[in-house]
Amino acid sequence: MDDRLFRTAMGKFATGVTVIATEVDGDIHGMTANAFMSVSLQPKLVVISISEKANMLYLIKESGKFSVNILSAEQQELSQLFAGQLKEQRKVAFENLDGVPVIEGAVAQISCEVTNTHVEGDHTLFIGKVTAIEVTDEDPLIFFNGRYRSLTVGTISQP
Ligand code: FAD
Repeated sequence: MDDRLFRTAMGKFATGVTVIATEVDGDIHGMTANAFMSVSLQPKLVVISISEKANMLYLIKESGKFSVNILSAEQQELSQLFAGQLKEQRKVAFENLDGVPVIEGAVAQISCEVTNTHVEGDHTLFIGKVTAIEVTDEDPLIFFNGRYRSLTVGTISQP
């Protein structure tokens, strides 16, 4: 099967946008991801899927912790930054939630400890036990058909 057809079909699934963050030896690393879902209520578990090509893969393996930051409609630029799509580097101020770096102003900040990993094809699934959560009432950033959108104004712009 053609890769492009697979990508196009997956892009028909509208999602929010998250930034996964972790810290190793005092250095914080962030990465944009939309392969995220809730797994279990008791215990509270989530899953993220990280490419074998991503620097984040090795960093989460080392730290054993990560945060999932669900971005607000105002945070498209952070999504682009942490996807490596901006030409210039930016300094980002992180907060701390239960010992894990989190992004200020995110719709939800979710701190996790890795409880299991599964290598599947060219991605690794990290199961995270949720240790702390903060939420706000901001509207989320949406990703659909390869474009950013918002709940209120439709398409914002191309990634
Ligand atoms: P790098 O390429 O090393 O870093 C990414 C960028 O973040 C760089 O520009 C870096 O300078 C910047 N950065 C990192 N930390 C900081 C910091 N502390 N302060 C300032 N800047 C920093 N890939 C997946 O594996 N799984 C997914 O679910 C997924 N979903 C995606 C969803 C969307 C909407 C998009 C646009 C991309 C998605 N990607 C996903 C692709 C992924 O975001 C990129 O391939 C990413 O560049 C790979 O991450 P990396 O760890 O190699 O980061």
